Amino acid sequence: MTRISENITSIRQKITAAAKKTGRDPATINLVAVSKKQPEDCIEEALAAGLRLFGENRVQEAQAHWQERRAAYPDLKLHLIGPLQTNKAKDAVALFDCIETLDREKLATALAKEMDRQGRHIPCFIQVNTGAEPQKAGVMPRDLAAFLSFCRDEKKLDITGLMAIPPVDEPPALHFALLKKLADWHGLPMLSMGMSGDFEQAVALGATHVRVGTALFGERTS
Ligand SMILES: *Cc1c(COP(=O)(O)O)cnc(C)c1O
Repeated sequence: MTRISENITSIRQKITAAAKKTGRDPATINLVAVSKKQPEDCIEEALAAGLRLFGENRVQEAQAHWQERRAAYPDLKLHLIGPLQTNKAKDAVALFDCIETLDREKLATALAKEMDRQGRHIPCFIQVNTGAEPQKAGVMPRDLAAFLSFCRDEKKLDITGLMAIPPVDEPPALHFALLKKLADWHGLPMLSMGMSGDFEQAVALGATHVRVGTALFGERTS
């Protein structure tokens, strides 16, 4: 076995254990392999090990990694997990299968327009700034209801879940629990939360998507 396939096995075992401990079905938890800043051979290894769901945080880098590979892997799914500028909405809609970082009206408008134009209606998660950090992307929890209604009712976007990146200096469990509560209130089934250091906690608290980079691939090259 290669290093990456060993890592995948170990991560899956941890996901399964965390799910079972909290009475969840492990099959409902999706491992999003975060391939940003990873070398080509690592991506090839992950594909060879059977991974088909990948996360990228920049449109341009995602195109370089995936635009040509896509053809060879019809069951590949790509999630955008980084901030999106409206002028990249066109490329993002063309490439990704889910936008996890919808966080403002201007972006919702741009995405809806592009999805209509391309006839490609992909689901979106709303990014929530659970820690209300001024420098961080995401809607404030108190603004979520109004933003959700704007996206759904006015823009006809398919909002299926929520995503959050907890503050680095706080225990993530509080933020995972808040995100879960918000998702339940609004009847949103998907929850993207948890990274290399805390995905087991996220699974225990309801994550359906964990975004794992370094624990899977090793340290990123910059
Ligand atoms: C890079 C990144 C990850 C992966 O982080 P690791 O700690 O390497 O697992 C997850 N989510 C987002 C939004 C990221 O940008």
